[in-house]
Amino acid sequence: MQSICILGSTGSIGVSTIDVVLRHPDKYQVFALTAHKNLGLLIEQAKLCRPEYIVVADKADYSSCKILCQAAGLSCHLLAGADALQQVASASGVSIVMAAIVGAAGLLPTLAAVNAGKKVLLANKEALVMSGELFIQAANQSKALLMPIDSEHNAIFQCLPHDFVYGDLASSGISKILLTGSGGPFRSTPITELNKVTPTQACAHPNWDMGRKISVDSATMMNKGLEFIEARWLFGLQSQDIEVVLHPQSIIHSMVQYCDGSVLAQLGNPDMRTPIAHALAYPQRIESGVAPLDFMQLANFSFCQPDMLRYPNLKLAIDASNAGQSATTMLNAANEVAVEAFLQEKIQFTQIADINDRCLQVMTSRPLDSIDAVVALDQEARGRSHLIIEQLILQGQGRNYA
Ligand code: NDP
Repeated sequence: MQSICILGSTGSIGVSTIDVVLRHPDKYQVFALTAHKNLGLLIEQAKLCRPEYIVVADKADYSSCKILCQAAGLSCHLLAGADALQQVASASGVSIVMAAIVGAAGLLPTLAAVNAGKKVLLANKEALVMSGELFIQAANQSKALLMPIDSEHNAIFQCLPHDFVYGDLASSGISKILLTGSGGPFRSTPITELNKVTPTQACAHPNWDMGRKISVDSATMMNKGLEFIEARWLFGLQSQDIEVVLHPQSIIHSMVQYCDGSVLAQLGNPDMRTPIAHALAYPQRIESGVAPLDFMQLANFSFCQPDMLRYPNLKLAIDASNAGQSATTMLNAANEVAVEAFLQEKIQFTQIADINDRCLQVMTSRPLDSIDAVVALDQEARGRSHLIIEQLILQGQGRNYA
């Protein structure tokens, strides 16, 4: 019986994780669930999963959550605050941590799990984008097992040989990693109309049902850019080892091309329960609840190159990954602030990339030799991004749809 801590249990990945875990009561028990603002769902999940701990990220929510716990007859311990997230992620009773908090807020709890040598199911790609080298060093030191949850990285992991050595494609006869992406909901929208799209339209992904931040990132393809950076850190890749391929059907989740002409791909319906189940049970396999692929029902597969004029965020992310760690930390922070401003209807969709670009231009790179330095740079970039947004709004250049 393995004990699991689900960081971000009330999000899209968290809900899918609980779905898989509850299918296997003989294998997994829930140690802790954590939420930010969705206390109602947290309580419902606690009634189902009977964890030892539940955690609310904001201390201000402790009292209201306590009342909800009592009303629901829950006997689990209730903790609150950012430190409590780290506490449950590194607790001695935990063997698996699902890192599914969105954005930079996930960095410290995910690192706490890594430092404690847990099996870490990494959905929170932003943590790796912010702190890649320090993160991978920490995992090597603690012998934490990092399992990719992003469907693309999970697919790559499944297509690599079992004896793959970090960063050494040549010894395994690998010529290229093909990172696939759907292109999001605006793949064929005229570029001149992209400034008018609304948050609701941007969050309506054609194939995946995800949280709002990653949905907007998918629409701008910043998500693919973050994944590009994530892939480099997870597998030790150079920029030229990765090719981004648009595959609108989202059935192939990524591929590994070998020097003999073979290409290994991982396929499946677009449902995150597949990579979650794979990572949970690895090296075994367990049922995930995902319907098997029906090849007779599949439409034709298509592939094309991403257009960098349509997806400037993708280019920004690839350039930042070549520029180094501080560039990706700043880009991630700027993007989180810009996406939030777009979701709050303060700026236009196309201004997300402009803000990211301007933020990178006005800031200076610096060495990041500690997590404190990463967090400080993240905060600084957020401040810059907020300023740029305020200026845009003051100049009357914010959102322009009704
Ligand atoms: P959601 O927005 O659906 O969920 C985010 C979770 O994080 C929620 O539990 C939320 O709590 C919690 N949270 C938000 N802010 C904070 C905070 N400041 N402190 C602590 N907890 C917080 O996101 P997703 O599930 O879609 O994504 C989670 C991560 O997984 C992201 O990094 C994303 O990139 C990655 N990912 C997601 C995929 C998907 O299909 N959804 C696919 C691949 C990767 P609450 O809801 O209670 O406010």
